[in-house]
Formats: sequence, C-alpha cells, structure tokens
Amino acid sequence: MSDNRTTRWVADVQRVLNEVGGERGRQEVKWGEQNHPNGTGGTRSLLRDAYEPNLDLRTGAELAAIFTARTDRLAAAGRLTYEAILTEEWAEAIACDDPAELRAELVQVAAVAVAWVQKIDREQGAGITVTAIRSQPNPELWLTDAGHVWQRCDDGSLRCINGTDQPEDESDVRRRFGRLRRLVPESEAGQ
Ligand SMILES: [Mg+2]
Repeated sequence: MSDNRTTRWVADVQRVLNEVGGERGRQEVKWGEQNHPNGTGGTRSLLRDAYEPNLDLRTGAELAAIFTARTDRLAAAGRLTYEAILTEEWAEAIACDDPAELRAELVQVAAVAVAWVQKIDREQGAGITVTAIRSQPNPELWLTDAGHVWQRCDDGSLRCINGTDQPEDESDVRRRFGRLRRLVPESEAGQ
C-alpha cells in the first residue's frame, strides 16, 4: 500500500477499535470488573452445559437462545466462564441476517475477547483494575469516542474510571477526547 493508503488503513482499523473500546466501557459500567475462569481446554467437553443435542441441526436463532440460556444458567450457578460468554456473543452474531445488527454483534464479540485478554493480563500481574466506578452507588458516567469512561466526582470534575488519573475539568476532557456521550444505566434506559 502507498503511504497514504497505509495511513488511511491504520486509521480505519483504529476507528473500529475505538468502537470496541466504547463497548468495553459499557461492559465495565454494566458488569464491573469481571474475572471469570477461562473455561477453555483441548480435552474438555465444552458444550455439555448447553444440555442440547444435535446443535448442528439448530437454526441461528435457536443457537443464540440456547447459548444465552446457558450463560444465564451458569451465571446463576456461579459457574460463568469467558468461554460461555464469548460463545453466546458468537451465537448472537451468527444468527444475524441484517448487516447492521451483525456488525453491532461483532463489535460485542471483539469487546468480550478484549475483556478476556484483560482478565488474563490481570492474572499475570499486568493490566488495570477499575476502582473509581465503585465509589458511588449511581455514578454519572461519560464515554469518549476512544472508549474512555469518565465518572463525575463530587466537586464536578471528571475522573477516568480506571482510577489512576487525576480528576480533570470537563472542558479539559472534552478538549483531549472530543465528544462525550452520557452513559445511561440500563435500569434508567428501561431496557
Ligand atoms: Mg451480543
């Protein structure tokens, strides 16, 4: 590729990765830091928990329902794994007919994969632990296009939810990251 095309290609990858970052922010707000077991392995019988025979005969919508129910069941039993979460997101993606819905589900697949990588990194002693978001019961949260999540402090300033940055004026955050979008909790959004 020419330099110009290479630059545009890198920017295009970054644009999509920023969307994945935004989805990671929404996941973090919804679920907090998650540290599920991997649930993977070359010698494990991975789909036994689905309790469904003949998965190859199922439609996409049936597979999405089966693996969503499986995730819910494992979560209720305290046995949720990243394998189950990613399998559910994969199933939701492959059930899509509409390209826009498929695209949104694929961003979710990518974001779950990123969350999983972050969990593995934390286990290795690397990676960031989110702390700030837990200090308020109903935090006011703002999302940048780059996927950063900022929480409103009592004095009106904003603080990035990883808790490692100093609080900043909202105007400074907007200057650095551009647009800020309010993250409305799902309970308030009525979803
Ligand atoms: Mg999904």
